[in-house]
Amino acid sequence: MKISSKLVKSAVISLSLITLIGTTIPIVATPTTIQAKKAKKKHYVTAKNKHQFKFGYAYVYNKKKHCYIGHKMSKKERQQFNMPKEQKIQKAKSNYDVPNINNFNNTICSQYSLLGYRWNKINLTFNDNHLNAHQQELAENSIEKINNLNSIKLSKTNKKADITIQIAKKENPRVVGQSTYTISDDDKYKNINLYEIAEINIYNNSILTQVSENIIDYDTLFKHVILHEVGHCLGLKHNPTQSRIMNVTNSRSEHITDPDQDYINDLAVLYQN
Ligand SMILES: [Zn+2]
Repeated sequence: MKISSKLVKSAVISLSLITLIGTTIPIVATPTTIQAKKAKKKHYVTAKNKHQFKFGYAYVYNKKKHCYIGHKMSKKERQQFNMPKEQKIQKAKSNYDVPNINNFNNTICSQYSLLGYRWNKINLTFNDNHLNAHQQELAENSIEKINNLNSIKLSKTNKKADITIQIAKKENPRVVGQSTYTISDDDKYKNINLYEIAEINIYNNSILTQVSENIIDYDTLFKHVILHEVGHCLGLKHNPTQSRIMNVTNSRSEHITDPDQDYINDLAVLYQN
């Protein structure tokens, strides 16, 4: 499977958006996209008998190896056999008044500030054990507000999670938070790529710098950063409108700890469809 150059390119472009403008605070670095490592690994699977066949794979019996060798069927092959897409997509149970979308093309994605990615499920896990107790409390306050929107449900786990929230190991004075995620370049749903795993890095020293300059209090900024970064990890991109959570820079008066209407609608469009 080849690496999608389109995804790599979009990550490079969005990184250049991180700038300091006057007294505004650089709220967040833009996400970077990493291709799935496992896609490079192997191109076939094996099965001892027909009960072990995986959906979406074509098998041939290999006499020497005494097993079936299967390869993942291409889109063309699946169409040839009239097979549905392998991906099963869960839709949100929320009922916001948003349009039905059949194709998340560029126009729709920019209209709703969407990255063009989503999870195939609506029940996700997060692990914030790397944060201290107070930071966990702040992060979970923001996550609860996202859960209350009823589009996505994020549950805390101590194990490997869909979204890991941690303090960045290296410092970067220009950003307060950054999201990184792995996107499957294989199956698409309504023209959307699917998340496999995501990681949020919080630049705590950058937050402390903003606080020491009396620009904002720690708790408010921390909660805002979590809302913004989790937004990226759910599929939201930067919103050009000032005073929105997903805006890339915010002046001191524009830190928000509640989901705004764009945030709510954009998530609903993405997950209700
Ligand atoms: Zn951002």
